[in-house]
Amino acid sequence: MSLVTLLNLSKHFKSTAAVQDVNLDIRSGEFFSILGPSGCGKTTLLRMIAGFEQPTTGAIFINGSDVTQLPPQERGIGMVFQNYELFPHMTVGETGAFGLETQRLPKGEIRSRVERILDAVKLVHKIDVPVPRLSGGEQQRVAVARAIVVEPAVLLFDEPLSNLDVSLRVKTREEIRALQRRTGITTIYVTHDQAEAMSLSDRIGVIRAGQLVQVGTPEEMYEMPQSAFVAEFLGGANVLQGQVALQEFAFVVGEFRIAVPPTTISGLKNGDAALAVKPEAIALSPTVHRGEYEGRIFHREYLGFITNFVVHVQGVDLHVSTMSSAMTKETREGAVVGLSFDWSRCLLMQR
Ligand code: ATP
Repeated sequence: MSLVTLLNLSKHFKSTAAVQDVNLDIRSGEFFSILGPSGCGKTTLLRMIAGFEQPTTGAIFINGSDVTQLPPQERGIGMVFQNYELFPHMTVGETGAFGLETQRLPKGEIRSRVERILDAVKLVHKIDVPVPRLSGGEQQRVAVARAIVVEPAVLLFDEPLSNLDVSLRVKTREEIRALQRRTGITTIYVTHDQAEAMSLSDRIGVIRAGQLVQVGTPEEMYEMPQSAFVAEFLGGANVLQGQVALQEFAFVVGEFRIAVPPTTISGLKNGDAALAVKPEAIALSPTVHRGEYEGRIFHREYLGFITNFVVHVQGVDLHVSTMSSAMTKETREGAVVGLSFDWSRCLLMQR
């Protein structure tokens, strides 16, 4: 069942179309991420759902009711912001109780609900500590507790981990996911970090220049991108801009003529096209075999399990990612290698 529905939602700031005609159903209990590069309209979309921003056109439904005209406090949402926006003069316990006190609940009930939620975010032992004395990660967990304690229908996150260092970010995102699973609260999570979106989400919606370009599970988005943009943004794909030459069964990028299997090229026309090739869809061999392209290793990056390369091939730089092996160990910068493409993992599209 759909819990949040966005219908033809747009937001214009003077000449800027920040969000353009977004239609989306978010299911009950789902963890849904809105993913896109800086300035694509993610925050504006989330702020419209929260009620902090009024849409230029379109409507928002939560639990079947049209909330487009309702103020934030009447929408049944909880929100966690990038900079937490906690009150500096309050303790952890007072922060957790704030939303419940405005609902005028009995003191005993407030106390037990606050303790329960602080227990869930592993902060019950800090209940009497002033918020400014907590670490960044702990403050973030207080912000999550404050948003969840009022039992909202929908929990909204706006880049909540961007102020944390890398290791804490990974740990905190695991905690957020576990908490969401336990509580089952429908969650909408804005991020520009594809790894964060992939690891947390049931489904992801990718936004580009205000438009929702693709929605799907992390696997669908990664394995079956419908555009070079999604392939590049989610899969780190090499995107080559060139031309289709049908009579040669080739894709041409400057000097580099790439032979393309008939199944990949069928349905395309001669002319401008883009080829998206994931770094792991290119195989390297230590000598150039028949049917392979000759390349030269420009850069090698050993990351333990994986080794990444940048390979020069006829004027084109290709990023290649492969499992570390005896071969990758011996393949140093400057070495000549053979390259071949796994066409089942490439996307060739007209531009
Ligand atoms: P980031 O990841 O950098 O936060 P974003 O994807 O969340 O970016 P938004 O903050 O939604 O993007 O901004 C989308 C576009 O709308 C941008 O071009 C931005 O400059 C513009 N914009 C956002 N808020 C306003 C505003 N209040 N007034 C005018 N323009 C705005």
